[in-house]
Amino acid sequence: MKVLAKLKPEEGMWMSEADKPEIGYNDILIKIKKTAICGTDVHIYNWDEWSQNTVPVGMTVGHEYVGVVAAIGDGVRGFKVGDRVSGEGHITCGHCRNCRAGRRHLCRNTMGVGVNRAGAFAEYLAIPADNAFKLPDEVSDDMAAIFDPFGNAVHTALSFDLVGEDVLITGAGPIGMMAAAVAKHAGARHVVITDINDFRLDLAKKMGATRTVNSQRENLKDVMAELGMTEGFDVGLEMSGVGVAFNGMLKAMNHGGKVALLGIPPKDMAIDWNEVIFKGLVIKGIYGREMFETWYKMAALIQSGLDLSPMITHVMPVDNFQEGFDIMRSGKSGKVILDWEA
Ligand code: NAD
Ligand code: ZN
Repeated sequence: MKVLAKLKPEEGMWMSEADKPEIGYNDILIKIKKTAICGTDVHIYNWDEWSQNTVPVGMTVGHEYVGVVAAIGDGVRGFKVGDRVSGEGHITCGHCRNCRAGRRHLCRNTMGVGVNRAGAFAEYLAIPADNAFKLPDEVSDDMAAIFDPFGNAVHTALSFDLVGEDVLITGAGPIGMMAAAVAKHAGARHVVITDINDFRLDLAKKMGATRTVNSQRENLKDVMAELGMTEGFDVGLEMSGVGVAFNGMLKAMNHGGKVALLGIPPKDMAIDWNEVIFKGLVIKGIYGREMFETWYKMAALIQSGLDLSPMITHVMPVDNFQEGFDIMRSGKSGKVILDWEA
């Protein structure tokens, strides 16, 4: 079968051939329809330090996908051949304390699809059936292909009560944009989002942000005054992984504010701890999606009218993957979708 893989220890991604995966007793085989390119795939393409230390050469990459169940293992219940599914990219161990308590997103032995084991940029993907999610009809294929990053946005945004609150999002990448849409849909008052990329800020506006801020040209203090905010933001969602953005957020938070951190900063990022302590801020780290509470909420958000379509800026046949990666690397895109059936 056709796969997109990291064949050489250098910048790039290559179309290749691999054996169709075998399925075990508890697995399903998924015939892939569409996949989306994640920031992680771009890191692997670029072959940065993290990828060199994490991803074995030869790995089939990709973990954002939609497909149809093509075969099921003998032990599988709840799925049948023909079901349309997406799936959780974190494969959890099932035997650690958190897994046993049903908190699978906190598993300490998580393996990543397309990072530590064969990924979804392939004609077929085998995963444990309990990592798959059956999709309601209202969720289009394009939307289902981005359920993984949408789940990051939903998990982060819904970590704290947003109703009637003023929300600050730093970083208008695909996940920040989706978080803006979710926060607005869920009933936040002001949803202010910052970035340094105007293309992305324009998209974030289309997605429902009430005010976009290019932090190279405007400062949050002025924006807060313009919005009549005399105290500070109630909820902060950090989605840039950039120290100056996070420090700006800490300054702009109200006392008692709540901050969720999804963006992955450099290890030695310094912050002004006085902002955290004297304001009594609550800070929560976010990894992945809650299995499967986040997934049910994603489906319900779409069913209740949340529209994420503005952020799908490119859909192309998988054979044009090079163009897809180039567009992602340019920063002038929302999500880029590769069609495996075109
Ligand atoms: P992305 O890189 O596309 O988005 C980050 C955005 O931050 C970019 O648009 C960039 O222009 C912007 N930015 C840069 N400097 C800024 C500044 N000073 N102020 C405001 N914005 C600034 O990434 P994404 O795919 O949207 O993911 C968001 C973040 O979440 C990334 O750091 C990613 O690594 C991380 N992530 C974490 C998890 C997790 O489970 N914790 C999962 C997926 C992604
Ligand atoms: Zn576990």
